[in-house]
Amino acid sequence: FGRHIAIYGKGGIGKSTTTSNISAALAEAGYKVIQIGCDPKSDSTNTLRGNAYLPTVLDSMRSGKKVHLADISAKGYGGVLCIESGGPVPGVGCAGRGINAAVSLLQELKLFAEYKPDYVLYDVLGDVVCGGFAVPIRDGITDRAYVVSSSDFMAVYAANNLFKAISKYAPAGGARLGGIIGNGLSAGYSKMLLDDFTNRTGTKTVEYIPRSLVVSQSELYGKTVIEANPHDKHADIYRRLARYIAQNDDLTIPAPLSVSELRDWAKIWGDRIFDYETGIVAESANI
Ligand code: ATP
Ligand code: MG
Repeated sequence: FGRHIAIYGKGGIGKSTTTSNISAALAEAGYKVIQIGCDPKSDSTNTLRGNAYLPTVLDSMRSGKKVHLADISAKGYGGVLCIESGGPVPGVGCAGRGINAAVSLLQELKLFAEYKPDYVLYDVLGDVVCGGFAVPIRDGITDRAYVVSSSDFMAVYAANNLFKAISKYAPAGGARLGGIIGNGLSAGYSKMLLDDFTNRTGTKTVEYIPRSLVVSQSELYGKTVIEANPHDKHADIYRRLARYIAQNDDLTIPAPLSVSELRDWAKIWGDRIFDYETGIVAESANI
């Protein structure tokens, strides 16, 4: 029931902000949306609910009592149904357990069959290299994944790791890649670097979201940009991205780089002399 989409990315890269704005934009367009935070921090849906606390699936299950949908979900902006999987007790167990437990419980509660969502978005912390992080793309929970990345090496490194997981699991029925969502790109150079990476890995950047104060200030209100600043041009960027993701069926199995290929590729960019705003000026003399 519905189209299930996973959004990955390294810690702090903007997954929850981007996912919540996509959910808000889809809700605004009249769709029935569920957002499931798959991050032990459990703050994925904060800006959809004015920062109100939402008990997590794992915490509720630990209480030992029978868990009802009303215990672990709340409606946020535009009627988006918000759920947080939660995580293990710190220091004990794998972070992926929460995702597994949440999905099993939601199936048991027949949430998808009864609620009949149009879209279900999973906000997944992607720089944990344990198998748990791959659950949504590995076990047929979603058939498509996007990855949020800036042009920073560690963000690209995490994206490349996701590509490795996708290329491993997709042939056996796992999810395929919808593309990269560029976030926090503030100059021509960042776009060129990210485009070069997507060219080399057989993927594409589906949207470029610039860094903006509007995003930070909306967050301070506990709101998405769509809700707090609906007329800002950033809201239109999120709406365009949401439309794209809602309709896109161009899914690929990316070709990840090996660690040494990634390092060599990064060095080429490190050696380039560039104008920060407009892009590359020349190759460096010392290569
Ligand atoms: P975590 O891995 O901790 O869950 P995350 O990937 O979900 O992090 P967010 O919480 O969405 O990242 O974003 C981190 C911070 O960056 C937030 O304060 C958010 O407001 C800010 N941020 C995200 N995208 C932008 C942007 N385009 N412009 C300005 N600030 C942004
Ligand atoms: Mg987050």
